[in-house]
Amino acid sequence: MSVTSESLAQELADSRILPPRTLRAVKNPVGAFAPQRALGNAFAPSASPTAHHSPKQNQLLAALPCVEFERLAPHLELVPMPRGFALHESGMRMLHVYFPTTSIISIVLVLADGASSEVAVVGDEGILGVSLFMGGETTPSRTVVQSAGFGYRIKAAVLKEEFNRVGALHTRVLLYIQALMTQVAQTAMCNRRHSVEQQVAKRLLMIMDRTGSNSLTMTQELIANSLGVRREGITAVAGALQRAGVIAYRRGHIAVLDSEKLEESACECYAVVKLEFKRLLSGNGPSHPFYDA
Ligand SMILES: [Zn+2]
Repeated sequence: MSVTSESLAQELADSRILPPRTLRAVKNPVGAFAPQRALGNAFAPSASPTAHHSPKQNQLLAALPCVEFERLAPHLELVPMPRGFALHESGMRMLHVYFPTTSIISIVLVLADGASSEVAVVGDEGILGVSLFMGGETTPSRTVVQSAGFGYRIKAAVLKEEFNRVGALHTRVLLYIQALMTQVAQTAMCNRRHSVEQQVAKRLLMIMDRTGSNSLTMTQELIANSLGVRREGITAVAGALQRAGVIAYRRGHIAVLDSEKLEESACECYAVVKLEFKRLLSGNGPSHPFYDA
């Protein structure tokens, strides 16, 4: 089963919510490695649907020893991830675990009245479906594609078998879960104590780290939904950042013009989480902007 690059390009350009049957694997030779996108390309597309793809674009997979990676490689399926698509729904048993490469995923909690808020962001540094390894199998949260791109999926049973070998995958996944817990805890504190401006700046920096680009495809409404705040508040903050020369905003695209000033605008949560990810997960994989100081 495969899809053409043209249809994938259209899916990503539309960024529409697709029914589950369209989230299908794409044939791709394992091993091709796409270069990191360079910073400084304002308003350029953040994901190229025609670029070469490799599971090693995911940092957890890239850090595995060859023998472990080769065991998993035949089971990894490339999948397009259109914005808005839910990888896991609340309370549902997961059939696949996902390794994002060029996509960015939100872990969100939804209240009974429909209000939602993001508790963590996962990009190519991480994995979606960690409850599989904890024995609980399901979680109250749902995972939704926030920034369209690609990723790899693998059947949960296959990955659990490799995890139970207690090798490098086991170690890396446990360290990742600890880092993810830090991000979730820090988000709880951030939502309670820090201003919308600080949270917006933190959020833009987190997305920049995961895309390797200063050109972000992101609407103000999406930021508002992610942070669980009113759209009007995001508009005011974006306007202030634009007037200060920190960002330029245009039709669903945000170009970060001055990342140093953006860091000054962000709360400490950004650095706390980033340093913890670096402490726990850097060192074994290839260099990556996510782990840069
Ligand atoms: Zn904060």
